[in-house]
Amino acid sequence: MLRLFPDTIPIEPVHHPLLNEKQVRMDVLRLDLIHPLISGNKWYKLRYYVAPHRHGDPVHLITYGGAWSNHILATAALGQEMNWSTTGLIRGEAPTSFSETLEQARSLGMQLRFLSRTDYRDKMMPDDLQADIQQQKALLIPEGGYGIPGKDGAATIPGLLPSPPYDEIFAACGTGTTLAGLIEAVGDRSRVTGISVLKGHTGLERDILALLPDRSALYPHQLSHDDHEGGYARYTPELIAFMNEFYEHTGIPTDFVYTGKLFQAVMRRVKENHFAPQRKILVIHSGGLQGNRSLKKGTLIF
Ligand SMILES: *Cc1c(COP(=O)(O)O)cnc(C)c1O
Repeated sequence: MLRLFPDTIPIEPVHHPLLNEKQVRMDVLRLDLIHPLISGNKWYKLRYYVAPHRHGDPVHLITYGGAWSNHILATAALGQEMNWSTTGLIRGEAPTSFSETLEQARSLGMQLRFLSRTDYRDKMMPDDLQADIQQQKALLIPEGGYGIPGKDGAATIPGLLPSPPYDEIFAACGTGTTLAGLIEAVGDRSRVTGISVLKGHTGLERDILALLPDRSALYPHQLSHDDHEGGYARYTPELIAFMNEFYEHTGIPTDFVYTGKLFQAVMRRVKENHFAPQRKILVIHSGGLQGNRSLKKGTLIF
């Protein structure tokens, strides 16, 4: 397998007065630390898309994403590491000035092509790229890495965990690919909870089950649709205040699209006595910090 990253990823105890008060033991798996650009869960979701091609001819990777997408940046950086070409199909008309994420993706060698919002929603593929995909000159990675290879890669994350197992594992959900991998690999050793960052994404459970072999669907898991703070890439003053306060106490930086909402949801559950004393909880820090660059400077203290 590609050896871009260390075999051991830091698992850190979270120190916060509320956790002391409620006697809840919380650890965080710091996937945000594995690589400056291929951050968090994105590497795990990508690894089995690219693995079959690593000894063959150079590949052209094509994928979809928004202007601040962690997945776009991770794909661009992986392409550069592998010496492969990459194309990002970006949601929305070409802007007059690029986001920092797109600027960086372009500097890593990614070709950017812009799709209108309707074309993006329909996952339109330009004819020339379609032909390359059909002739296997290019490899299409679905938006967000959603698919069986993405899930299989995410299923390698629990291999980083020590035994004995945690009572509960929490992760943020966009497409649900990461959660599906976690559910499959953790089995009935822990309960896995996904915090959806999209508003009213009621198809999420179905999308997750579609990736899981039948028996895995029975493993203990649940989804929350109430912790999105207004919807995808939206935020409230409370969320920003939480992220700053959480950083002050714990030294753990979070992003406002995924992991800020994740930790806020978990800490809310701690506050509301959701966990019995001495329960052992793991929160997966899935990275994504680069997206905070879309916020006005000074919004966050880190
Ligand atoms: C992409 C992303 C997620 C969502 O992962 P899915 O597998 O699509 O559910 C969670 N956290 C961060 C930081 C991400 O960048």
